[in-house]
Order: sequence, then structure tokens, then C-alpha cells
Amino acid sequence: MARTPSASSSRRSTRDFNAAQTRRAALSLTHSRIARGVPGKPSVRDIESALRLLQSRGALVANSATATTVNVRLLATPERIKTELGAGDELELSFLRALWRLVGVRINDGAIVDASGFPPGYGGTRGVMSLLAALQSRQFLVWTANGAGEVRLARPNHPLEYFQIDWPAIGKRRAGDVAKLDAMQKYAYLNSCRRQFVLSYFGDAAARPKCKGCDNCLGVKLAKRVVGRVAKKRRRRA
Ligand SMILES: [Zn+2]
Repeated sequence: MARTPSASSSRRSTRDFNAAQTRRAALSLTHSRIARGVPGKPSVRDIESALRLLQSRGALVANSATATTVNVRLLATPERIKTELGAGDELELSFLRALWRLVGVRINDGAIVDASGFPPGYGGTRGVMSLLAALQSRQFLVWTANGAGEVRLARPNHPLEYFQIDWPAIGKRRAGDVAKLDAMQKYAYLNSCRRQFVLSYFGDAAARPKCKGCDNCLGVKLAKRVVGRVAKKRRRRA
């Protein structure tokens, strides 16, 4: 039986993910980082399905392939900045001021900043990133670039409930999908009459034990092997 993420495990990953994200507020994360951070060791598939769901509900946004956002957290106090950044550091000082104007006090907890959104004079996205690197090397701040495909909370200050996700409906749909997959596998490995199986599946009262027309009723071994192979492939893909 192929492992299909259950609604409850998906719900759990989502909840834990949300809690973890609230703590980390503005940080953006990769799937593997989320998987490592969520208790209960969810599979990558569980994580992916939870992320897809949260994205479809507008709770998460994924970075595009051309992401220019960075996560920045200020380490230095204003006093330290004042004493340690002096002559020759005018660009760094002005950059820190621009950063403060963009995100304000959130910079102390870590904030997402668009590196392409700074006023001219800092060398565009590349210049901003090299300024960040320079300031990080002097331990004024820490920063990471948001990689393509990483996800972050669309509204970090909103609880998961805000996005009104219909968990029971999702669980029902999943259960339905699992049941269909089960039936398909049973059909593939069936030794008895296939026509009878299909008719019974759809609740047809006309189902008879033998149709004398399907591969099983006719005893066609080759067809059986082919069906078995197809099912094996599907299971591997599922
Ligand atoms: Zn038959």
C-alpha cells in the first residue's frame, strides 16, 4: 500500500510548522529545513502537501525564481553602531539607516527585505547584498538571501485559523483518494472475475461470479502479468 499523507499528519505538520514559523517570524524556509524542525518526522511528501495547501489558502508565499528578498536581523545596538561605524563607513551607516526606514523595529527580530527596493546609491541588488555581507562580517547583522522556491508566511502575524482551512473536507477527500487507489491495486492483483469486481465496486446488482470474458475468466496469463507490471509502476510513482 502506497504511503499517502493522512489529513491528521498533514494538519499536525501544518500546525507545528505554523508554530515554528511564528517563533522565527520572518525567516524563509526550505522543505528540508521544515521537515527537520517539525516533531514526529513527517515525510517530505507530507510537508509538500501541507505547503501546497497553505499556499493555496494564501497563508504562504513561495519565492519566485528571481527572488531578490533577503532576511536580515540586526545584531548591533544603536550605541555600538554609533561607536564602531565612523569615518570611512559612511555608506554602511547610511545603508543601516535606509534599512531601518524600510522595516523599522522589526529588524531586531529579523525581517524580510527586498534588496531591489533600496534607494539608488547602494549599487542595486548586488550592492545591497555585498553591503549586507560586509556588515555581517563585522557582526552588525546576520542575513541570508531567500532562495528560489523557499516559502515564507504571507501574514506572519495572523494565526492559522485566519485562513479558514476546511480540515474535515480535506480529510474526506484524502480518504476518498486512498480508497480509489486501494481499489485500483486490488483490481490489478485480482485473480477472480474483473467484470464482477467492477460491477460490485459500483454497486451493480447484476454482478455475477464469472463473466467468461475477462482475462481471469479466460485464464490469460500474459495480460495478468502486464497489468501487474503497470500496477507496480503506479505504486512506485504514487
Ligand atoms: Zn470475468
